[in-house]
Amino acid sequence: MKTTISNWGNYPVVKAEYDSIQHIFRFLKESSFSFIVRGLGRSYGDSSLSDYIFDGTKWNRFLSFDKKTGILYCEAGVSIHEILEVFVPRGWFVPVTPGTKFVTIGGAISSDVHGKNHHKEGSFCKHVLSIEVLLSNGKIIECSPKKNVDLFRYICGGMGLLGVLLRAKIQLKKIESAYITQTTYKAKNLTEMIQLFEAHKNATYTVAWMDCLAEGEHLGRGILFTGEHTTKEDLQKFNFSKDPFYVKKKIKINIPFYFPGFVLNSFTVRLFNFLFYHKHFRKQITQLVDYDRFFYPLDSIYHWNRIYGKRGFIQYQFVLPKENGLEGIKEIIHEISKHKMGSFLVVFKVFGDPNRIPQKSSKKIISFPFSFPIEGYTLALDFAIEKRLPEFLKKLDQIVESYKGKLYLAKDARMPKEFFYKTYPIKEFLKIKKMYDAKNRLLSLQAERLGLSV
Ligand SMILES: Cc1cc2nc3c(=O)[nH]c(=O)nc-3n(C[C@H](O)[C@H](O)[C@H](O)COP(=O)(O)OP(=O)(O)OC[C@H]3O[C@@H](n4cnc5c(N)ncnc54)[C@H](O)[C@@H]3O)c2cc1C
Repeated sequence: MKTTISNWGNYPVVKAEYDSIQHIFRFLKESSFSFIVRGLGRSYGDSSLSDYIFDGTKWNRFLSFDKKTGILYCEAGVSIHEILEVFVPRGWFVPVTPGTKFVTIGGAISSDVHGKNHHKEGSFCKHVLSIEVLLSNGKIIECSPKKNVDLFRYICGGMGLLGVLLRAKIQLKKIESAYITQTTYKAKNLTEMIQLFEAHKNATYTVAWMDCLAEGEHLGRGILFTGEHTTKEDLQKFNFSKDPFYVKKKIKINIPFYFPGFVLNSFTVRLFNFLFYHKHFRKQITQLVDYDRFFYPLDSIYHWNRIYGKRGFIQYQFVLPKENGLEGIKEIIHEISKHKMGSFLVVFKVFGDPNRIPQKSSKKIISFPFSFPIEGYTLALDFAIEKRLPEFLKKLDQIVESYKGKLYLAKDARMPKEFFYKTYPIKEFLKIKKMYDAKNRLLSLQAERLGLSV
């Protein structure tokens, strides 16, 4: 029986067979249909949608943990939320986390997700030691920076198109408490924002909210958040005397229905932006916050994606190389402001170098061609689906292309194929696809749309 299903942007919505991952071995043997594996559906568009979907979250066991080294061996359906629940009280944290903890390890590897520490610690796959993959011919192989290296390079960021991820070994990081020392800084425009990022480039975590409707001398104004894992010693400075790993459970808010379309418009966004910016009335504030509040403020509102209405929304995330990327950011903000296409959630971040792993044996450096982050500026913007959106996004595409940038596949639901071909190394990817999945058994709607089949 078909199920109606969509990912986080509620666009597109499809009817698909939705099967448990436990049936995958028989399916591979007895049928010739294409399929895709879905994690927790926190990608925004169609990367984990197809006519036949396997729910990867049922394989979610912890297999081993070495408390001396911090190496976790687990199934790919384990979520970051499950890891934190078990390991934060034991003094360990995930090496990289996106802005929601409801993503699986399979999803985190397939999108090579980035976090607020990209400039210091790279993206997720830099901390993945090995992956076990079920290929479409039914064989299970291991890939890592040392073994089946090309498969590893393209699985990281390869959107689940080369094999079913079964298990992985991940390096966790040691923490002394469940708390983050957070400092917020107010920037009155883009120049000040960049100066702040530069001044705090040694902070472990940095991210900014930006008011995308502010123009003129206020263009690019916003709030920079920096954070450090709080040490036991630092907890004392905040007069914190409880268990350092104790985090109070919070009451969650639920958005029970889809908001009507008129609720979100440039006026309400402008008002929200004004209030959010001026809520931070001091230029700089330092606070002790638990990890949930620092990393996952949106997870405390169930179904917040419903505020964009039934038609859903697109998250448009691009990155522009550092050289002249700031000019591009300005052009894009002008375009948004000119068309009154305000976005509630505007996240700005300065990325560091893309992941590169030196190989000791051959002195080669392993790179990850499908991974999204490159050194430069990234902006993530949410736009409700409406009539004028396709044309508007085409304009943004042109600006991104002219600055030699690219879009993030995990957020994509509409990128034109020609644009994709200009910005990602498709030929190389298809070579690897031919080696490991020549019959295109693993195929998402996104892969079909973007021509990622052989
Ligand atoms: C509120 C919010 C904030 C976010 N913030 C960030 C952020 O800061 N940084 C960032 O990088 N991303 C961010 N994201 C995006 C999210 O981290 C990625 O889309 C992630 O891949 C979602 O994982 P998932 O488990 O939900 O996978 P899904 O969305 O279900 O699938 C994503 C991809 O992974 C593949 N996949 C999943 N499991 C397997 C498996 N076992 N085997 C093979 N392929 C598999 C799917 O086929 C698909 O291609 C955010 C998303 C939301 C909703």
